[in-house]
Amino acid sequence: MLGLSMVRLVHPDDRREVFRQFSKLATSTLGATVRVEARMRHDDGSWRWYESIFTNRLDDASVDGVIANMRDTTERVLQEQALRESETRLEHQATHDPLTGLPNRTLMRDRLDVALGRGRRNRSGLAILYCDIDHFKVVNDSLGHSRGDALLVAVAGRLAEAVRGGDTIARFGGDEFVVLAEDLASADEAVALAERIEQALTAPFVMNDSEVFVTMSTGIAYGEADELEVESLLRDADSAMYQAKARGRDRAEIFDDAMRARAVDRHQIETALRRAVARRQLQVYYQPVIELRHKRMVGTEALVRWKHPSRGLLYPGTFITVAEDTGLIVPLGAWILDQACAQTEAWRDVARPDHPEPRSAHRSDHPRNPPGDPADDLFVAVNLSARQLSDPSLIDDIASVLAAARLDPRRLHLEITESVLMHDVDASKEVLDRLKVLGVRIAIDDFGTGYSSFSYLRRFPVDILKIDQSFVAGLETDAEAHAIVHAIVDLGHTLGLEVVAEGVETEGQLGRLREMGCDFAQGYLLARAVPAARIHDFLSNGVSWPLL
Ligand code: C2E
Ligand code: CA
Ligand code: CA
Repeated sequence: MLGLSMVRLVHPDDRREVFRQFSKLATSTLGATVRVEARMRHDDGSWRWYESIFTNRLDDASVDGVIANMRDTTERVLQEQALRESETRLEHQATHDPLTGLPNRTLMRDRLDVALGRGRRNRSGLAILYCDIDHFKVVNDSLGHSRGDALLVAVAGRLAEAVRGGDTIARFGGDEFVVLAEDLASADEAVALAERIEQALTAPFVMNDSEVFVTMSTGIAYGEADELEVESLLRDADSAMYQAKARGRDRAEIFDDAMRARAVDRHQIETALRRAVARRQLQVYYQPVIELRHKRMVGTEALVRWKHPSRGLLYPGTFITVAEDTGLIVPLGAWILDQACAQTEAWRDVARPDHPEPRSAHRSDHPRNPPGDPADDLFVAVNLSARQLSDPSLIDDIASVLAAARLDPRRLHLEITESVLMHDVDASKEVLDRLKVLGVRIAIDDFGTGYSSFSYLRRFPVDILKIDQSFVAGLETDAEAHAIVHAIVDLGHTLGLEVVAEGVETEGQLGRLREMGCDFAQGYLLARAVPAARIHDFLSNGVSWPLL
């Protein structure tokens, strides 16, 4: 190194730092040291890292200059660099969506947290837009997964064009994107952003040679930063998004006080419902199902009621969806099933006019009703929710309920709505096939509203169609409803199924159903859902239906 200038040895990128340390040293006292790590040129022309300690000997008569202690640290520095790189890569993976490269849920939470802090200082508003592609499943199924993925990437690109530079777009998985917009003066600006996003999606996406049109349902949550929290903001935007879906999709809804009130209400319902289950405030009611040809009761539908201590008798419309969303429906449904089966078997012991002596309620060692007594065949229809259907223990649960109640499996009808069945056709078929093995009968509920095709009906092991109330309601006044009911009855019979009309409220409706050859009817005209004891009373007068 003799005669070489230091400058020539140090890597150009590190020179500035070396000089900085040198000038520090030059102005320091005798014996002071500085440390610097820099790349130095090696014999073979390559660069290697050196850690150098320079000691000030400028005032030392015995030394002319400074003393440098140097050691080669290349190995360590390279290791550290590699470590840092993989750390950054890992961090990126953990905080970004691999498909679109957008921030994921975790990173969005962080950004939102930071944004809320910033918003509190500047006293500005911010908004979360929860965007969910409409009917993406259909698009994905028809395009195939790889093109579905390409579409998601393209949608992400359009979103990026619609938002402002500082806004964050994240992918929350599947077809859900979330936008964070900061520094807003009012909720109108959030709505305007939703409109820009909508605009950005109007042009079709070209996938290979076909054009795909994409719409989104967007939920907006807006607020002043000092009154917001990360979790509630995301949750409110999500609720508003569901509202947008419910109001027909392809639209944006802003979370407002009415929604907040509903959300609070839901939470209260959930807590109260958990308590109600424990305190046995739930009761199963039974609505008679009448066979039109023989004018007799052939079965009942089990409908749950909640005897609320302060609000009175509550109908499932007010609590079943909460039970479904929270998963409470699984234990609740099992309990309803158990009650319904045990009760239906117990009704066989009802005294009839021709058997004046009331008989023991014990199931064993008592004379049965005369053979062929219709009460022996009385079925019970129990509603199954989507959540129950996807519960892996459903089949075992039903089998043990049937065994415990000693109910003939054919007397249990399981009602599943058409829309639930159609949600995932393959999974539904698998569950239905397994249910069929138990010997139970299967009814499609609310039929006519869920877009099932003829081919699905043939593939599913179904026994009964229940025509949706909305069509029955229009039987006398709406020609189209009349035609639909007629077509469903014919379709059912062609496929060898029995057909039930629900929600029969007038004599006129009943007459039409008879003409069409509909098998069974259920409705306020015939009977409302009543407590088990009332069915017991009906039965003690025989199964003939008095009102027909
Ligand atoms: P759903 O299965 O379609 O049940 C028929 C609903 O129509 C019942 O309402 C019944 O009381 C009502 N209804 C019967 N006849 C008439 C009529 O003539 N006119 C009118 N307007 N309505 C009539 P409910 O009991 O309020 O139950 C509503 C829904 O809640 C049910 O619809 C069912 O989807 C669900 N649900 C009820 N009980 C259970 C249950 O135990 N488990 C599950 N998963 N869902 C249940
Ligand atoms: Ca039903
Ligand atoms: Ca129904």
